[in-house]
Amino acid sequence: AQQQLVEHERLAALGALSAVVAHEVRNPLGAIFNALATLRRFVGPSAPADTLVGILEEEANRLNRLVDDLLDFARPTSPLPQPVPLAHLLEEAVRTATSGQSRVRVEWALAPDVPPVPVDERMMRQAFLNLALNAVQAMPQGGTLRVAARRGTEHPGAVVEFTDTGPGIPQQLRERLFEPFFTTKATGTGLGLAIVKRTLDAHRGQIRIESPPSGGTTVVLMLPLTQESTPAHAG
Ligand code: ADP
Ligand code: MG
Repeated sequence: AQQQLVEHERLAALGALSAVVAHEVRNPLGAIFNALATLRRFVGPSAPADTLVGILEEEANRLNRLVDDLLDFARPTSPLPQPVPLAHLLEEAVRTATSGQSRVRVEWALAPDVPPVPVDERMMRQAFLNLALNAVQAMPQGGTLRVAARRGTEHPGAVVEFTDTGPGIPQQLRERLFEPFFTTKATGTGLGLAIVKRTLDAHRGQIRIESPPSGGTTVVLMLPLTQESTPAHAG
């Protein structure tokens, strides 16, 4: 319990720091975007400086994504749960993650009896998006993303699964995946799974990552039907 408290405080401090950095970066970044838009009017696609302006735009966009991730990570985690159709959130997230990715095939396995679990729509959409993005990014040569949702069998609730046919996750990295800023990608922020974990914790859900030696990764989410930690006392 003591260790959990220390970890909790560490994360809170990291969240506060992230918020400050994100806000401080956002203003100069806005100025950079404005200047770039103006610059674009003088530098056409065939001008000698086109490549350079392209690099500036790309890197500014990358900073912008980092700021977005930092703000998501730093945002307070008390959810406003409402019964939302999970299928709808999943479809939105998968559409965003796979747009322009013609080599990724999407396979759906949505059971008709998935219970309407209460979730914070914004938080859960972001969590689904992060998982779909990780799956897509794990398959640069293409592959299959399988998205499944079904009724939980052990606990009342819904089970959601993202499975990809990428290389899988080496055993020695498993325990670091949820660490904020842990990434193996050249342009990753390492905040995706940290955000997913916080979202699941805030919903009293559970997350499990399976990566068999044969390759591929499955992320399993368990979302409870009720979020009370203990049942209310009668009388
Ligand atoms: P990021 O995507 O910015 O690297 P994440 O927190 O989303 O940060 O993921 C952390 C790391 O977990 C990734 O860098 C990658 O090494 C690993 N990972 C996550 N999802 C997958 C996946 N589906 N297949 C392989 N590796 C994964
Ligand atoms: Mg990610």
